[in-house]
Amino acid sequence: MLGRIAAAWKKAKCPVLFSGAGMSTESGLPDFRSARGLWKQQPESLATPEAMFGQPDAFYFFYQWRIARLWEVAPNLGHLRLAQLEQAGFLQKVITQNVDGLHQRAGSERVVELHGTLRTVSCLSCRAGYDSRQMLPARSDWEADYQEGRYRRGDECRCPRCRGMLRPDVVLFGEGLPEEAWTEAVRWSRQADFFVVVGSSLAVSPANLCPLWAVERGARLLIINAEPTPLDDRADWVIRTPAAEALDRIADEVLISAENPAEASVGP
Ligand SMILES: [Zn+2]
Repeated sequence: MLGRIAAAWKKAKCPVLFSGAGMSTESGLPDFRSARGLWKQQPESLATPEAMFGQPDAFYFFYQWRIARLWEVAPNLGHLRLAQLEQAGFLQKVITQNVDGLHQRAGSERVVELHGTLRTVSCLSCRAGYDSRQMLPARSDWEADYQEGRYRRGDECRCPRCRGMLRPDVVLFGEGLPEEAWTEAVRWSRQADFFVVVGSSLAVSPANLCPLWAVERGARLLIINAEPTPLDDRADWVIRTPAAEALDRIADEVLISAENPAEASVGP
């Protein structure tokens, strides 16, 4: 099956890939939902504008914890192979639901971030942008403080220039998707003639519309996901192996035969 997938991928004029949380699992990035016992309330209620203004200590700790974990992990083999495919001309665009920036850290340049990014933060007052590590506490015991109920957000949550509040550049629950990213995602999904879904259960609307639009315009659809998705029966291929392993093997086929275009037709 991988040979046929690679052949179709290579022939495609506009291959586009859509990634979700499962793309980063093998980087060891903990899912904030699974950090059970750490949060004193539902994470979905922390990732909101209401929490940012109404429960700032809980909000800022939640994001500081996630930003700290983010910079502890590295892109995995799957991210690296996708960057190689892009450099070799076999990937036109990556549309991602992820906010971890691991595609870019692996070398991908053509990335649309539907839900913003945790790699940067910006000032609510003067709009200045910073690396998100700017918002991490300088002291080392802040996580222990939180566990013991003594955590208070500090000066690191303020803009070094104007003292305004910083915020992570992610889309919070209740906020709309960034207009420019969404427009791009729609455009690339409609242009795609080969569409790959990696590590997304396609449960979140409107992001799950991207593969649907691609298929409706005649794109071949490859789904690499551990769990079934609502679009499995529209897919040409469904793969349940972990994302990095599947992408590694497919990239091998696409890139090796691309290096030796005559290989397939050479006789004995
Ligand atoms: Zn500022």
